[in-house]
Amino acid sequence: MKPTGYFTHPICRKHDMGAGHPECPDRLGAIEDRLLITGLADALERREPSPASQSELELAHSRSYIASLRGMTDELCEEIKAGGPDRLQLDPDTSINVHTYQAALMGAGAALNATDAVLAGELQNAFCAVRPPGHHACRDRAMGFCIFNHVALAAKYALDRHGLQRVAVIDFDVHHGNGTEEIVAGDPRILMCSYYQHPFYPEWPHAEADNLVNVPVPAYSKGMDVRELIDSVWMPRLEAHRPEMIFISAGFDAHREDDMGQLGLVEQDYVWITQRLKAVADRHAQGRIVSVLEGGYNLSALARSVEAHVRVLADL
Ligand SMILES: [Zn+2]
Repeated sequence: MKPTGYFTHPICRKHDMGAGHPECPDRLGAIEDRLLITGLADALERREPSPASQSELELAHSRSYIASLRGMTDELCEEIKAGGPDRLQLDPDTSINVHTYQAALMGAGAALNATDAVLAGELQNAFCAVRPPGHHACRDRAMGFCIFNHVALAAKYALDRHGLQRVAVIDFDVHHGNGTEEIVAGDPRILMCSYYQHPFYPEWPHAEADNLVNVPVPAYSKGMDVRELIDSVWMPRLEAHRPEMIFISAGFDAHREDDMGQLGLVEQDYVWITQRLKAVADRHAQGRIVSVLEGGYNLSALARSVEAHVRVLADL
């Protein structure tokens, strides 16, 4: 039995969008505490990632966007020296500090390193506890707390660098992964399945493509409603696609206690979803799964949900 990897890095806690921002460094602390308290941390193989390289980032992002982020970080350092503010706003709810660029590189690197380790057979699967999150990040722009799209990068990396022919991207965050969708739309090698509260942020024009399986759900839907849709809509497409590896945008803000959205999922629903995905991975992908943290803003619900998700990944 191969271990489940747990990828995280201290720099991911240094990205900080200011007091009161829900996408806060304490999210990673809450997850870490929970894994320690429950003893689950001891059962995981903990690894520190290395940052993604320029050529790796270009698998999903434009050279001009990557350069502009670097430029803004340099500009911010200069402004701070001159007594200016310590953050620079990228969109109404996304800002960078001097650590953001490195944290985002490390988040992307975690997803890529996890992909390498799982494909090398060193790990059965992996969870990346990283931030900033990624699924709203588009090819050319940051938005919705996201800078680089870790999951889209890892999916492309598995195909282009490791030679896989078919992968699946699953997004169970309460918000629509519009950035991932933009990057993978029309690529028949990648099947993207998601559910999300609708109408809701990001109110982004949905791409139409054969490889996108979108399941919009109304506010106040419960876990059972979502489970039925997953079984009837995602599962037949996943079985037909036969992915050789599964990537998960693991956002836990559809939890009943999370005020960021209005869905009613609980830990048992995340257990059920993870079991379903694991069964698909076992049938078609030699069990290979890389899961990357996205949303989840109620610290207690986030920590409990991650525990539930990782426990299934690790067969515990
Ligand atoms: Zn979200």
